[in-house]
Amino acid sequence: MEKKNKLYEGKAKILYDTDSPDYLIQYFKDDATAFNAAKKGTIKEKGVMNNGISTRMFEFLEAEGIPTHFVKKLNDREMAVKKVDIVPVEVVMRNIAAGSLCRNLGVEEGMKLPCPVLEFCYKRDDLNDPLINASHIRALNLATQDEIDEITKYALQINELMKQFFLNLKLELVDFKLEFGRCNGSIILADEISPDTCRLWEVGTGNKLDKDRFRHDLGNIEEAYQEVLKRMSV
Ligand code: ADP
Ligand code: UDP
Repeated sequence: MEKKNKLYEGKAKILYDTDSPDYLIQYFKDDATAFNAAKKGTIKEKGVMNNGISTRMFEFLEAEGIPTHFVKKLNDREMAVKKVDIVPVEVVMRNIAAGSLCRNLGVEEGMKLPCPVLEFCYKRDDLNDPLINASHIRALNLATQDEIDEITKYALQINELMKQFFLNLKLELVDFKLEFGRCNGSIILADEISPDTCRLWEVGTGNKLDKDRFRHDLGNIEEAYQEVLKRMSV
């Protein structure tokens, strides 16, 4: 597969088209942003680590029967993916209270949620990715009810699979964000799964091994991402 033109440069990745209309190349950058890009920085070798971690996660989920855009890892920072029409909804799954759930609902960080919480956010940086529900999604024509049902089913399955996957690595899956896209008439998982998009706490110590280290200047950011990759690779 040959890399052609840059299609899009986002906050964390660059998309290139290829000599095939069905495939893109996803390049992982070291750039990091938080609080809707109000905080900016770089995390050394983040792109390499997130490409490795996302590759492992997509391979795992595919093997468990979840359809994803992942085709193959090409090199340190690039993976080939199926081109999709992204559903402009960020799907957040939560098992433990953290981040915006605590701010919005006045719950304390670390509260174990008795059932997984599923949230939808409208993928609109100019509006700060506002929280929306299924009727907003239908009313704004972002997705059909069938697509919402499919996305919900996958998100719940992925949560159960990833929770166990990380628990085996002595990491607690606190919350994470997913993006889905349309490909040949069906919904598949797209984008990335990495410590940029998941909160992971070490079992026992509660040590944060994710982007919260960058968001809140906790230090040892590179080491945290490296540790996640290391645990996955053995
Ligand atoms: P952002 O756009 O939020 O700054 P990124 O830097 O991660 O985020 O950019 C990657 C972009 O690529 C995202 O907008 C994401 O929705 C989109 N994307 C992810 N996977 C695919 C895919 N398979 N096909 C088309 N677009 C994709
Ligand atoms: N998340 C993400 N991208 C976003 C917003 C959230 O990857 O644009 C992830 C975030 O890393 C966390 C989960 O989704 O794992 C829930 O994020 P939350 O709403 O608590 O975000 P915060 O407001 O704390 O950034």
